[in-house]
Amino acid sequence: MPDKPPARKMRIAVLTSGGDSAGMNAVVRSIVKSAILKGCETYVVREGYEGLVRGNSEAVSSVPTSSNAKEHHRSESPLASGDADSFVHNLRFGDGELLRDGTGDHPGGRSLKGRYIVRVGWDDVRGWFSQGGTLIGTARSVVFRTYEGRLTAASNLIKEGIDAIAVCGGDGSLTGADVFRAEWPKLVAELATQGRITPEQAKAHAHLRIVGLVGSIDNDMSMTDLTIGAPTALHRICEAIDNIDSTAFSHSRAFVLEVMGRHCGWLALLAGVSGGADFIFIPERPPEADSWEDEMCKMIQRHREIGKRKTIVIVAEGAHDKHLNPIRAEYVKDVLTERLGLDTRVTTLGHTQRGGRPCAYDRLLPTLQGVEAVEALLEATPDTPSYMIGVAENKITRVPLMDAVRMTNEVTQAIKDKDFDKAMSLRDPEFRESLEGFYATSILEKEPRLPHHMRMRVAIMHVGAPAGGMNAATRAAVRYCIRQGHKPFAIHNGFPGLLDDNVHQLSWLGVDNWMTRGGSELGTNRKLPDIDLGAVAAKFQQWNFHALMLIGGFEAFTSLLTLETGRKHYPAFNIPMVHLPATISNNVPMTEFSLGSDTSLNALVDACDAIKQSASASRNRVFVVETQGGKCGYLATMGALAVGACIVYTPETGIDLDKLRNDVKFLKKRYTLDMKGRSEGRLVLRNEVSSNVYTTDVITKMFKEEGGKLFDSRSASLGHTLQGGIPSPMDRARAVRLSLKCMAFIEQHHALLQKQSGSGKPRQASPESAAVITIQASALKWVPVQEMVPHADMENRRGKNERWMRFVDLVEALVARPQILEKA
Ligand code: ATP
Repeated sequence: MPDKPPARKMRIAVLTSGGDSAGMNAVVRSIVKSAILKGCETYVVREGYEGLVRGNSEAVSSVPTSSNAKEHHRSESPLASGDADSFVHNLRFGDGELLRDGTGDHPGGRSLKGRYIVRVGWDDVRGWFSQGGTLIGTARSVVFRTYEGRLTAASNLIKEGIDAIAVCGGDGSLTGADVFRAEWPKLVAELATQGRITPEQAKAHAHLRIVGLVGSIDNDMSMTDLTIGAPTALHRICEAIDNIDSTAFSHSRAFVLEVMGRHCGWLALLAGVSGGADFIFIPERPPEADSWEDEMCKMIQRHREIGKRKTIVIVAEGAHDKHLNPIRAEYVKDVLTERLGLDTRVTTLGHTQRGGRPCAYDRLLPTLQGVEAVEALLEATPDTPSYMIGVAENKITRVPLMDAVRMTNEVTQAIKDKDFDKAMSLRDPEFRESLEGFYATSILEKEPRLPHHMRMRVAIMHVGAPAGGMNAATRAAVRYCIRQGHKPFAIHNGFPGLLDDNVHQLSWLGVDNWMTRGGSELGTNRKLPDIDLGAVAAKFQQWNFHALMLIGGFEAFTSLLTLETGRKHYPAFNIPMVHLPATISNNVPMTEFSLGSDTSLNALVDACDAIKQSASASRNRVFVVETQGGKCGYLATMGALAVGACIVYTPETGIDLDKLRNDVKFLKKRYTLDMKGRSEGRLVLRNEVSSNVYTTDVITKMFKEEGGKLFDSRSASLGHTLQGGIPSPMDRARAVRLSLKCMAFIEQHHALLQKQSGSGKPRQASPESAAVITIQASALKWVPVQEMVPHADMENRRGKNERWMRFVDLVEALVARPQILEKA
């Protein structure tokens, strides 16, 4: 049972600690907003644990910080449930501007000097998540590591009446959080004995609620797939590799890139996978051979011999050989220059990896984790462990903080003990699969792995609209096929291309640059196989395909369904057939993720950041931004969450007059609550087919008319820009991982069919052998295509129970729509 809530509003503070990472501001924003919605009072602690120890000097903390700061210690009411009055009370305390300013001083005389635990409201954190780093400051606090330091920190928290803290930082910061919570009863007792707090205060603060969110660019925390900031750092690295690529190719050069990661090779590994590197060095899996230089040179020489003009080697800063001797980028460069005579350069990316605007995922993940963190704090009891908020595939998770910290330390220890198998086993499955994916797609082996009788002719086809990651998935499949001894065939231009015999065998080198290419290198087509199913079957037979991989969206799903159904009449379809979802609309039933959707969200975030800046620059302006997505509102909804849009229109919910009337009411009220004299831009996202009548143009004109003197309105249509240019690193890495799973699936079902043929029975593929690879909550699942039919809305070309639909409510909650409308 949760604690009985205190007889006053709960006070929640958030701090960022350790190295900064992109997405920390989104954590603060999400926690502040979620906590206010739950009726709590919200605080930020500046400069991490250092700020907790420094606290607020009495003289300064009594200075009012804004017009309503005099109510700072006013409310002793029971824990409210986010009612409208309490919302308006929590709107603004004025310190957001000072924090954003970075100086902590305001010409008007307000100052943050001497104040480290600062009351903040809803609008104080507005728009924070488009900024990199952390606006509330971070530090590495030596004094917090001491008992005395933590005693003072506890005293400061109690004096400010803080009941709960959310800590966003790396493993060190979360270790500190756990130590603090474990010691809390002792600290409180000692403060009471020393007379530094009253017995009442000791009683009211007998239990400290604490939650951890992992902000770290290294992705070095166990028990979570991703840490906040790691995806953005990966973006920065891949941008650098993509830039280096062209010069490396032009001059036939080798580049050795050093990337961050002292104890964790995630950045180097994922950069290697997504950037199509030739060789990587990571701490968890050092080269097996003592003479790793020979191994590396042999490999690179083999790549060069078949005509590769560029070489990319990635070295994690903590890389070493199996005896723990460091492997440095400069040394790798010398080896490549001296032994292979390559013109080799070193690029050390350093702090550029930390910086810059957060990518879409580093806005979504912290937003969702912040909501969960507040829930965890509200539900915490003295008997429950402190939690760390993590993510598994697509699901936000809670895991005991100490278990995650312990497991993370075990990896470090295993590396120190040279037990690299253990270090790898302690990393999450995605890490291991990515490493396998790197070997499978980057290393050209001398001989195929499979004996002749197990080798296949694998057809690969793109169906439907292009999406980021299609080419990366194809490249991975091709390279895997070649490693095994299969022959990969490209079918160009979809089913019409097959009927025209537009088919050719792909080579290892031919797909080399495909990781970074957007669109579809094979050429894609929306036509389904039922244009002439018999002729399609005849072509399957003519080309003697043993397996088919379809990469695409709803059309690819429908095609697979048609082919599977066609097995009754056409034996040529009795082969393993897979569909790897790739569509920016993310409308394939039963899967929460399609390749291309991350690229598209990033294109949307980039465009909306620029639009929002323009919308705020001159006067109050509401921009109605139209997105693609067909009859699926995924892109509009997740885009709205990622850019902080205040209204989202989707085809699933539609648009009617009542909704529009309420939207206008909401916007008017919202603009009247804004700070006078400051112009604010707001975004509204509308999926292109949300309504035939209430078009983007109609809505824009309506808002303009109704906005009067309060706000103006303009529209922007993002159109095909949302297909993105260069695919995002997440799409590329996921493409490799999922593509290899498809290949394993095909091999497994091919072997079953071969067994069947060997027994003399007629060849009949099972329904399970025509399947779609899906991501459902925290798991990857194969779903036979026929089993997907009940979950598909064939008319609207989308899934029936789309899990992302719940986020429509979250978009509205995070702009306090219900509370603001209630005040209207
Ligand atoms: P990064 O991953 O970027 O290095 P981090 O959170 O691991 O981030 P650290 O410097 O290890 O960074 O830790 C941040 C702060 O957390 C320390 O400066 C210290 O104040 C606190 N801290 C770390 N470990 C402990 C501990 N064992 N006890 C108390 N406080 C700690």
